[in-house]
Amino acid sequence: MLPITIWESESFFSPRDYIIIGSGFTGLWSAYYLKKRHPDRSVMILERGTIPGGASTRNAGFACFGSFTELMADIKQMGSKEMLELVDMRFRGLKKIRSLFGKQRIDYESTGGYELISREQYPDINVLRTQIDQLNQQLKKITGKQKTFQLSDSKIKQFGLGGSGHLIENSLEGQLHSGKLCAALLQKVQSMGVTLLTNTEIQKLEINANAVELQTNLPVTLKAGKVLICTNAFAKTLLPDLDIKPARGQILLTSPIKGLKIIGGFHYEEGFYYFRNLGSRVLLGGARNKFLKEEETFSAITSSPVQENLEKFLKEIVLPGVQYTIDQRWAGIMAVGEEKKPIIKKVNDRVYCAVRLSGMGVALAPQIAKMVAGMM
Ligand SMILES: Cc1cc2nc3c(=O)[nH]c(=O)nc-3n(C[C@H](O)[C@H](O)[C@H](O)COP(=O)(O)OP(=O)(O)OC[C@H]3O[C@@H](n4cnc5c(N)ncnc54)[C@H](O)[C@@H]3O)c2cc1C
Repeated sequence: MLPITIWESESFFSPRDYIIIGSGFTGLWSAYYLKKRHPDRSVMILERGTIPGGASTRNAGFACFGSFTELMADIKQMGSKEMLELVDMRFRGLKKIRSLFGKQRIDYESTGGYELISREQYPDINVLRTQIDQLNQQLKKITGKQKTFQLSDSKIKQFGLGGSGHLIENSLEGQLHSGKLCAALLQKVQSMGVTLLTNTEIQKLEINANAVELQTNLPVTLKAGKVLICTNAFAKTLLPDLDIKPARGQILLTSPIKGLKIIGGFHYEEGFYYFRNLGSRVLLGGARNKFLKEEETFSAITSSPVQENLEKFLKEIVLPGVQYTIDQRWAGIMAVGEEKKPIIKKVNDRVYCAVRLSGMGVALAPQIAKMVAGMM
C-alpha cells in the first residue's frame, strides 16, 4: 500500500470513539447496539477479510436455541440456571433478528426444529416422555409455550428418515440465510453511521493515557477511545490468556432433490450432527464429536475422514434410497472452551471482548452484543 496522505489519515483512518475488531455477527450486532446507545459517537469495524471471514458466513443457518438432548447435557454440565440463561438469550436473539429484518429479507423460515434420537439412547419411551415434560416445565417461562418440545415419532416416516428411533419436535425453531443476515446487518449499521474497513488485520493493541493504538497490516496506526474484540475463535492473538480453542465445523450440500421430504432443521447426537433443507437441497454438517482432536484447528479446509462420515450419515439416515450428488463442501471455525458460556469481559478501562460463541451464535450474538455495549 502507498504511504498514507493527510486526507486519508484525517478521514478513513481518523481516530474513533469505538473500534470493533471482527465483522461477524457479534461485531455487527455490537456496532448496532453501541450506535443505538450513543448515536453521536463514532464507531468503526475492522475486518481482516474481504468479507467476514469467520463462522458467521460459513455456518448452517439454523435459527435455533438448543435441541432436547443438548439442553439435557447442558443441565448436567452447567446446571439448570445457566442452561436457562443461555436459552433465554438465544430466544430473545431470534426474536430480535425477526423484528429488525422481517422474515423475507433474510430467508427466515419458521419450519420448526427436530431432533432424531436413537432407541439405544432412550430404550424406555416413558423415561424420554418424563424428561421432555420436566424440561418443558423449565422452558415455559422463556418460550411461553406449555410444550416447547414434543414427541413426533410419526413424522419420521413423513420425512423419509432412516434408522429407528424417536423424533422430538420444537415448533419455535427455524432457519435463515446467514449471508443475507450478515449483509442486512452491515447495511443497517452503515445506515446508522458505522464505518467498516476490510482487509485490515489487527496485530497488536497498545494502550496509552488517552487512547488505544491499533497496529495493523496497513502502513497506519489506528486510534480509538475504546476497543471491542469480537474475533471469536481467533481472539487469543490479541488476548492470549483467554480459554478459547478453535473448533472446525464441516458442511456438505447436496444437489437439488425432486420431491425432497426433509423440511426443517434437524439435530442428532446433542447437536453434533445437524441437517436442514435449503430449498430442495440438503445441507448437512457436523461429526466433530468423532474427530475432536483433528478438528481443533484454524484451517478452514474440509477433510476426507469427516466428509466421508457425513456422507455415510447422509446416505443411511437423512436420505436413504434417494439419488443426489454432493455439490459443495465447506468448513468454518467456531470457538469453544472449558465452559460453554461466551466470554463477555472488560479487559481493562479501554479494551473489552465478546467472544467464544460456540455453535449457536446466530441466536446468541444479539444479546451478547447488547450486554457488552451496555458495559462500554
Ligand atoms: C460449520 C459451522 C456451522 C454453524 N452452524 C450454526 C448454525 O446453524 N446456527 C448458529 O446459531 N450457529 C452456528 N454456528 C456458530 C456461529 O456461526 C458462530 O457462533 C457465530 O458466527 C460467531 O460469530 P462471531 O461474530 O462471534 O465470530 P466470527 O463470525 O468467527 O467472526 C470473527 C471475525 O473476526 C475476524 N478477525 C479475526 N481476527 C482478526 C484480526 N486480528 N483483525 C481483524 N479481524 C479479525 C474474522 O475474519 C471474522 O470475520 C456454526 C459455526 C460453524 C463453524
